Amino acid sequence: MAKCLRCSSRASYFVSYVRGGFCREHFVEYMEERVLRTIERYRMVPRGSKVIVAVSGGKDSIMLLNVLAKRRDEVGYGELVAVHINLGIRGYSEEAERVSLENCRALGVKCVVVNLRELIGVGVEELSKLSRRPACSVCGLVKRYILNAIAIAMGADVVATGHHLDDMLVYTFKNMLSSSVEELSKLTPVSPGVKGLVASRVRPLFEVYEENTLAYVIAAGLQHLSRECPLKHVGVVERESRGYFEKLEREIPGFKLTAIRNIMKTMAMGKSETTETPARCELCGMPSRERICSFCRLTEKALGKPMGSQVVKKLEELVKTAIAS
Ligand code: AMP
Ligand code: ZN
Ligand code: ZN
Repeated sequence: MAKCLRCSSRASYFVSYVRGGFCREHFVEYMEERVLRTIERYRMVPRGSKVIVAVSGGKDSIMLLNVLAKRRDEVGYGELVAVHINLGIRGYSEEAERVSLENCRALGVKCVVVNLRELIGVGVEELSKLSRRPACSVCGLVKRYILNAIAIAMGADVVATGHHLDDMLVYTFKNMLSSSVEELSKLTPVSPGVKGLVASRVRPLFEVYEENTLAYVIAAGLQHLSRECPLKHVGVVERESRGYFEKLEREIPGFKLTAIRNIMKTMAMGKSETTETPARCELCGMPSRERICSFCRLTEKALGKPMGSQVVKKLEELVKTAIAS
């Protein structure tokens, strides 16, 4: 019988790179310590800051929500608010919202729900069809826009998302192969913000394996959405590279962890020190590299009208009522 690395109980949760396992209690403790160490090492959360945790209902963000809520003193933030975006995906988003709300309630974390259909009249699927763009890219754009706009409306310092190591590794690899420099630059442990315009983005689970996020929510007895999004499309490069990294991990335990750390180090070296302040979209005032931001362009193409300023206004109202309640 393999023993827990921290006590004499039986080990039932294994972590490839420690070449051993833990009992349930010590696995939960170990994973939380790892997340805390990442937050500290990359200075993700300034002391006393206001943090938004983006909760999708999936295992990753439920793990993140739980660690942040449970380990408040060690993380050192001043306030934690959860934001869930209901993306209007029929037969899926209802459950995602319910799971997100129930976890927040159990942990005593305030959760603000943003409903995309209420904001712009359509969900992600229709938006994708009308704009003739892939659902995942439309969804990513919409989430980024809403999370930033609501963070600015709330005066939050940091937005934390649950991106785990495997996704970070595959996405950076894919973007490197396709030379998508702009997409690549967004995939860092910390994306610094600009006061009043861009909220800082942090990814405290970027050193946590996907399999460990699932084991964590099971070990900690947390409810999570186990179904995949029905719109999710996994391309051949993504699928094959995931398999390739898994194979390497089996041959060399810890390969994925070393790889992601080295990639992030390399990317940080290539970054210039002077980070230019992005311009504002002429229509909605949100950050944009071009005259009109990608959200305003997307909604204009799909719905015949750029919706950015309307969305920003509605989010400001939503924040006011959420604070009052
Ligand atoms: P994904 O892009 O679906 O892999 O999700 C990556 C991270 O983005 C999640 O771990 C969450 O932190 C955040 N996120 C994804 N979907 C939502 C959502 N519907 N509402 C709030 N945050 C989300
Ligand atoms: Zn133990
Ligand atoms: Zn705009």
